[in-house]
Order: sequence, then structure tokens, then C-alpha cells
Amino acid sequence: MSARAGVVYLVGAGPGDPGLVTVKALELVASADVVLHDRLIPASVLDGARPEAELIYVGKQPGDGGASQERIEELMVERARHGRSVVRLKGGDPFVFGRGGEEAEALARAGVEFEVVPGVTSGVAAPAYAGIPVTHRDDASAVAFVTGHEDPEKDETALDWDALARFPGTLVLYMGVKNLPRIAESLRAGGRDPKEPAAAIERGTDAAQRTVTATLSELPAAVAEAGLRAPAILLFGAVAARRDAIAWLERRPLHGKRVVVTRARAQASGLSATLRALGADVVELPAIRIEPRLDAPEVREAVADLHSYALVCLTSPNGVRLLFEAMAEQGRDARALANATVAAIGPGTAASLREHGVIADVVPQRFVAEALVEALVSVDVHDRPVLVARAAEARDVLPDALAERGARVDVVALYETVREDPDPAAIEAAAGADYVTFTSSSTVRNLVAAIGDRFPRSARVVSIGPITSEAAREAGLEVHVEAERHDPSGVVEALVADVGRE
Ligand code: SAH
Repeated sequence: MSARAGVVYLVGAGPGDPGLVTVKALELVASADVVLHDRLIPASVLDGARPEAELIYVGKQPGDGGASQERIEELMVERARHGRSVVRLKGGDPFVFGRGGEEAEALARAGVEFEVVPGVTSGVAAPAYAGIPVTHRDDASAVAFVTGHEDPEKDETALDWDALARFPGTLVLYMGVKNLPRIAESLRAGGRDPKEPAAAIERGTDAAQRTVTATLSELPAAVAEAGLRAPAILLFGAVAARRDAIAWLERRPLHGKRVVVTRARAQASGLSATLRALGADVVELPAIRIEPRLDAPEVREAVADLHSYALVCLTSPNGVRLLFEAMAEQGRDARALANATVAAIGPGTAASLREHGVIADVVPQRFVAEALVEALVSVDVHDRPVLVARAAEARDVLPDALAERGARVDVVALYETVREDPDPAAIEAAAGADYVTFTSSSTVRNLVAAIGDRFPRSARVVSIGPITSEAAREAGLEVHVEAERHDPSGVVEALVADVGRE
């Protein structure tokens, strides 16, 4: 759905895992003119906003005051009255301890049209990721959501702690870490069983989620010892003991492993997503960037003459994508390749070709230039025109071998890989990495050149194949793991196997 002009949307962004943002939330962010957002929202959600959208941070750090509630309400009303579509994005669910109710009332008072989009609330999601169902047929037929923000010892508390202590079901407390000792004491004093199972879940659903379980009376000490801090959910109830059997997050193969992905940002998403799905805490530290060279005269010429080549060799998915872009610019499509034998260096490149309607004739099993040379022996290239479309800084194994067999080889660089300046925050996050993955020699060289001695020395290095491993050793790195299949899924397999050997 599209955000409408003059309307304010009070939208929940879920508890942290970007996958727990609703479809409706993503669609509204993607179409809004203005996004007013809090601190505890998944960063990736804002990536979907329009480039010209106005993004306003109105979050409150604990203690800093931040933008006042009146200011936030004023901003929403003012922008909406100017005919703009406004998304007010809040962590979790907007109506669960998010002051969403007050904001809706302010909009109603101002006569501004609004809609509410619920979100996945942390009080249910964080326990779920910790393996704790907030209700259970045997243990809990009721659940209470409680704010722990109020100090139970102060007189003005709106909460009846004795009644909460007697509540026949699970107690889920938001904003309670700081007051935990007094909360536990009040519940105990109100008659709650000191031996009742309890849990605290910090940064629930995030890759860095941490969970502590103990009995009600021992939870404060356990939380202090683990150093758990806000944002965290506290939970009291028999269901907390179910975690022993249900905890699933920690069982994922890459749980607790921080893995650095050094591919170019445009290509990293697939590898990162697969690693995340296996439980890894992924840090994207792109070392290179792809710079297309589609305007270079030799590229334009080769594309114009594409129909005249007997053999066209493609050596990366990027090459395929850019070749088809260059063709489209000249008003041409896949039929320009109708006369040629089409060779792909590996399955990823072949898959990209397939997406453009071309089934590669030659795909070697091993994903290196030497293997492609071997696979091409049966193709007659003598005195025939051959196009090798590739990156500027590739090795010459393939064109040299073809030239030796008498082919008239045109080598055309469709793109250059240039160094990406690494983001300081990502370098810092990478410092604690367990693994650094390299998917090409250019990522190795550029990363080492860019970050030098800030390279995480304690991390294990995973390389996609022998050429990349060699580049890593030349750059002074030890290679701990080399993929058997030289493509991104081979890298993932090798990494998972290495973790399994620990
Ligand atoms: N509207 C939000 C709650 C806002 S109040 C929701 O529905 O989730 C802020 C409190 O929410 C924090 O102090 C913490 O108790 C809880 N919280 C938010 N995100 C959390 C997370 N990822 N893990 C654990 N607790 C979280």
C-alpha cells in the first residue's frame, strides 16, 4: 500500500530482526514523504525510504531527553497539514508502551487523518527467540505486559505489585532492567514463589541477543553478573523453564559467530542473508566497488559486433549483468548472442545468463579460469573471433590460452573493481570477528590495503578458492579454510563445516 498525502501512519517496526518488519510497514516507509523514527528500529528499514524522503530522528537515548513528545506530535501534525505523507516509525508495536496511543489522540485532536499499523512486540518476540512461549496450555493461561519503568518502592507507582505477584500467569516486563532488584523483591514480598523460573532477554531477535535464566529471587544477581542492559525483557513464570527444551536460536549452526563479508555491497546481500539465516552476526565490510565501463569505446564496439563472435566468454555474474545493460543501451537483446557459443566460468555466471534468457553452452565444474580453458578444448576457435568480457584487473589465463589456439581474441573490460573506503563503524565491528570471508583476490588486496593492521588477527580466514587463498597469503594472511566449491554457497558450506569441527 502507498502512503497517502496528508495522512500520518503510526507504524510498528518490530523488535530488531529486519525480517520481523511487516510488509505494510515496508511499503509505507518506501512511499512516505516523511519518516519520523525512534532509536530501537532495525536500521535496514530506513534503507527502503525514497532518496528524497525527509528522515527525522526523534529517538530518546535513556536520560538525554531527546525530542520531546510535544515536539514529535507537532512535527507530525505540521508535516501532514502541508499535504505530506508521514510515517511515525516506532520500535515493536506502537500501542505497547510506545506512547502511540497519545500520538493517535493528538492527531485526532488536531483533525489529522491517521492509521495504525501494529508491529511485532518485543515482549512476545524476545521470549520466542529465547525459546520461551509466553503462554502454554500446561503452564500459563494468561500473560500480563507490565512496565518496569516505575520504581515499585515509590509511592506514586500506578502499579499494584501485590496484585501482579498474585497474577495467575506469565509476567512480561518492559523497561525493567534498572529496577530489577526492587521488582523481584516486590513480587516476592507480594507472595510470588521465589523459586519461580524467570528470564531476562537483552536485544531480543537481534544477532546479539543474550538470554539469562534463573529463579525469581536469583535473577537480579544473574543479570548483574552477565552485565545485561537495556533494551531487555524480563519474564517471570513457569514457561521460562520451557527454554531448556525449546531454545532454537542457539542451535543454529553459526549462532554466536561474527562473520565479516568483504564483497562489494551490490553483491554482498545474498551471501550475508544466507549467513544470517544460519545464525551468524554478519558485518558487511565491503572492500571493493564495481565501476561499470560501459561507455568505453572498445566495449561499445564489441557490443555492436556481438553477433559476429564465434565464442563469448563471461567470467562473473557482474559481467553478465553489465553486458546485458550495454546491449540494452544499444537496443539489443539476447538474440545478439544467437550465433555464438556462450561460455560461463561457473554456476553463478551461468545462473545470471539464464536470468537473461541464455543457457550457457559451456560451464566447467571447477570455477577457475584454468577449468574453463579445459572445458573449451572441444570448441573450435582457430582463426575465429572470440570475446572475453570480464573485469579490468582479471588474470590473462583464458585469453592467452585461446590466443595460443589461434583464436582472434578481443578482451573487453566491462567494469573495474575499485577500492571502497571502509566505514569506521564496520571496521570496529569487524575487530571482534570470528571469521573473515574473501570471495576474490581483489577483496583481499583492497581490504588489507585499506585497514592494514586493524585486520582482525584472531579471526579465521575463509577463502573461496586457491587464487584468492594465494592472494591472501601474499597479503600476509594465514588462510584457515578454503572452499571446495568456488562460489558463495561453497564458502558458506566450508565455514559451517569449520564451526562444526570446533
Ligand atoms: N513498543 C515497544 C516497546 C517500547 S518500550 C514494543 O512493542 O516492543 C522500550 C522497551 O521495550 C525496552 O526498555 C525493552 O524492555 C523493550 N524492548 C524493545 N526492543 C527490545 C528487544 N529487541 N529486546 C528486548 N527488549 C526490547
